[in-house]
Amino acid sequence: MSTCTTCPYCGVGCGVLAGADGSIKGDPNHPANAGRLCSKGTALGATIGLEGRLLAPSLKGADVSWDHALDLVAQKFSEAIRDHGPESVAFYLSGQLLTEDYYVANKLIKGFMGSANIDTNSRLCMASAVAGHKRAFGTDTVPGQYEDFELADTIVLVGSNTAWCHPVLFRRIEAAKAARPDLKIVVIDPRRTATCQIADLHLPIQSDGDAALFNHLLCEIKARDLINHDYVNAHVNGLEAALGAAAQSTASVVTCGLNPDQINAFVDLWCKSEKVVTLFSMGVNQSAYGTDKVNAILNCHLATGRIGRPGMGPFSMTGQPNAMGGREVGGLSNMLASHLDLENADHRAAVQEFWAAPVMPEKPGLKAVDLFRACRDGKIKALWVMSTNPVVSMPEADFVAEAIRSVPFTVGSDIIARTDTMDCVDLRLPAAGWGEKSGTVTNSERCISRQRPFLPMPGEARADWAVLAAVGCRMGWKEAFDYASPAEVFREHASLSGVSGALGRDFDISGLETLSDVDYDHLTPQVWPIPAGYEVENKRFFAEGKFYHPDGKAKMLPITPPELAQPEGETLRFNTARVRDHWHTMTRTGRAPQLGAHMGEPYLEVHPEDALRLGLQAAGLVEIENSHGRAVLRVLITDRVQKGACCAPMHWTAQTAAAGRVNALVTGRVDAVSGQPALKMAKVKARAY
Ligand code: SF4
Repeated sequence: MSTCTTCPYCGVGCGVLAGADGSIKGDPNHPANAGRLCSKGTALGATIGLEGRLLAPSLKGADVSWDHALDLVAQKFSEAIRDHGPESVAFYLSGQLLTEDYYVANKLIKGFMGSANIDTNSRLCMASAVAGHKRAFGTDTVPGQYEDFELADTIVLVGSNTAWCHPVLFRRIEAAKAARPDLKIVVIDPRRTATCQIADLHLPIQSDGDAALFNHLLCEIKARDLINHDYVNAHVNGLEAALGAAAQSTASVVTCGLNPDQINAFVDLWCKSEKVVTLFSMGVNQSAYGTDKVNAILNCHLATGRIGRPGMGPFSMTGQPNAMGGREVGGLSNMLASHLDLENADHRAAVQEFWAAPVMPEKPGLKAVDLFRACRDGKIKALWVMSTNPVVSMPEADFVAEAIRSVPFTVGSDIIARTDTMDCVDLRLPAAGWGEKSGTVTNSERCISRQRPFLPMPGEARADWAVLAAVGCRMGWKEAFDYASPAEVFREHASLSGVSGALGRDFDISGLETLSDVDYDHLTPQVWPIPAGYEVENKRFFAEGKFYHPDGKAKMLPITPPELAQPEGETLRFNTARVRDHWHTMTRTGRAPQLGAHMGEPYLEVHPEDALRLGLQAAGLVEIENSHGRAVLRVLITDRVQKGACCAPMHWTAQTAAAGRVNALVTGRVDAVSGQPALKMAKVKARAY
């Protein structure tokens, strides 16, 4: 007997049929994958054992009762707020959480504790896409759907190793190309990744050269008379300013590492195919210029009106299974629930009234990098980290460990007893894991799917939404947090989205607010919007305009590309990446032996000429170092990376490879608009070890 659920890894959001005996199959009826699974999804059955699980609450290493643990959390957070104000408390959450968990966390800290210091590892993933969408569209809206990849004539993949990071979507693209060889694929990536195997054109751009390239494309769109003036006049502001900035920066395309033939081939393909989808992912977002890069891409689609119609549009691919659900409940420090704006007084008032909340912060809280700096500076007195491992995944990861240890009271909720982060906290709370918990997630095409339990909760593990609600009740807000089930939380979330819809916002799933518990259990995958009372036939956004800025128009942004970093002296440009068969910090994929067979240890890709210059031997060891940290990695000599650059995967932790934590070497430099760290752009010195 199988249970219909959703894969807990990437933002493709594949449906899975899972059995308590560990049997795993792709769900043939799920629209994201139609039965396909990648290697990670297929191996899920090998990851559900209890080895290493945290099975009871534990305070500084000693087991305690749930009552004691919950009382302590309520007491410490209450004392911090009383003695130091609401800004002295913070939550750091995860795109691994279910929407119901995320909703209760966001409601508790923003509406009741009165702090906007709730940020998540989604800040490391797609905050620049959120900021770019909001600047262009007025809301954080992904306009298209996965089937657009099958309907397009040209697909441009920017900063995305889709073959390894979103494998089932890649297989859909691969199948579309096999069926229609005229479908053109362009990959824009400094590295020649596995995704390039199906590319008609690979542009080995220099890191952060994307804005210059898309500015150049915008100039060519104008030069070739491809501006869609009817669409722009009716629905878009800012064309002239964007064109002006692009014209001023034409020289910068020369320095982005591409030759004129490559640039012209790209421009020809983009301009000749009306049906063009531009997918962008971490290579665009994880940058100090990520938001500008996003808007440079959106500008080209807005100028041509190639948005929201079948087979065309920009497409932000999220890394995590529920980064989109987190965005929907406002689970970032600068967002409010239901795609409402924290800095809009009307939106704040609407949410406060809906929640009957005593307080509501009026300004954004701390974004991830600043949040951990505030911890280190003594400004945060109580911190709750939930379902994520920032001591591995954050930039300047060594600093983050020190920062967490310097907070007077810290809580960690996780399924694993010992992670690099759980080793730093005072109170460890056992969470329910995938296969045990119940709720919903939203994938990159806005499709809401159920995660359903098929295993008993082990030991004393509890669902995160229930733990958060219990703390809310103990802090004195029983009426607001007296939830009986995830279905009840979901109904409230759907109902609040109706308030958002009534305020003219994009996110409206109020058609689901009356689901019974049984209906919720049987909920099939649903793409939003799902407003109450009527069916929406076309789920794409923006073909007819109707953007969410006050005048109903979109905005093109004037983009000035950055000067590109050049190697200095002995340093190499250092990029971070992911491998095909591991996920994040390997707390789950590290348990499946078959997933270790692909890439079994941390490694550094180095160009043959750099390897020769530095005296590095193939399969020998290399030490990389900068002012933030050091790592020792296996040498992989390959011309997949450019000369003067190197690249390492980010998965390994202090527990899986003591000297292989590479995000310890990444600077905490962030995008000025989105606060997303430049995780793909550090500098290191390398030497044989
Ligand atoms: Fe899971 Fe992503 Fe693989 Fe689908 S593509 S099975 S969601 S990891």
